[in-house]
Amino acid sequence: MGSDPLQGILDQIAAEARENPERGGVADYIPELACIDPDQFAIAIARPGQRTLTAGDADVPFSIQSVSKLFMLALALGKLGDRLWSRVGREPSGHSFDSMLLLELEKGRPRNPFINAGAIVTADAVLDGSTPREALGALLRFVRAAAGDDAIHINDRVAASETATGHRNFALAHYLRSHGNLRNPPELTLGTYFHQCAIEMSCTQLANAGRFLIGGAGAPRLVSARRIRRINALMMTCGHYDGSGDYAYRVGLPGKSGVGGGILSIVPGVASVAVWSPGLNRYGNSKLGTEAMETLATRTGWSVFGPGA
Ligand code: GLU
Repeated sequence: MGSDPLQGILDQIAAEARENPERGGVADYIPELACIDPDQFAIAIARPGQRTLTAGDADVPFSIQSVSKLFMLALALGKLGDRLWSRVGREPSGHSFDSMLLLELEKGRPRNPFINAGAIVTADAVLDGSTPREALGALLRFVRAAAGDDAIHINDRVAASETATGHRNFALAHYLRSHGNLRNPPELTLGTYFHQCAIEMSCTQLANAGRFLIGGAGAPRLVSARRIRRINALMMTCGHYDGSGDYAYRVGLPGKSGVGGGILSIVPGVASVAVWSPGLNRYGNSKLGTEAMETLATRTGWSVFGPGA
């Protein structure tokens, strides 16, 4: 596929992933995700003004799950600006994605918009004053515009599956409501949240959708440069839950993971990278995806902390 040296690196990473027997376990607490074939792997790199490079199963759609939280955050900041931060913090939690613990100690103000409690508040902020259908329509328009792809859609089966089993998220939502930090009925906010998590994208589509966070010349302008820096900062510090420090150490790039096995990472000013492998590590982040990002960062020298490969 042409002479771009990055293509060779991607092909090699995909070949190594294919051979790796240690693939982690798929998320089985959402029944629709429990039956995904763990032997899949894809990686894609999108750069402004250049062809998107891919390797592996890059056109297979997967459930982006929590990667959706960064798109919803961009919408919420567009709607509320800094007022959002009175309802949700900007600190890493050091706890699992669905933890209740800090929420009780900190009186219903979630630590950050990427843990479930914070993402539920963020969805609630976007939902305020509209219907779930309108809020999800706005989200899909944003994602489709970012990716330049109108085929991106929500998988209703996955949303229904999580609605039927998402007891922890219901607990979080009701707890938030008891502290006055949920403006809409929990069923409506969670309906919005479960459907946003059920957006499906291929790795190619996700890498393209991430281009708005690259910044610099030629990248799509959906949010201001200032906001790009801030979303990237949150992805770096909070994007991988209690594995965020480990991801920053090993990869050195802002990233957001989802329990569907996808990770979107940004190389500021350079590229948007999506990787997907359904098996998860102990933090609930893609095992092979994290390893692939570490290899990519090493072989390219891409890191916000310095070039040493
Ligand atoms: N929909 C999932 C949940 O709320 C998202 C979790 C994730 O991707 O980390 O449990």
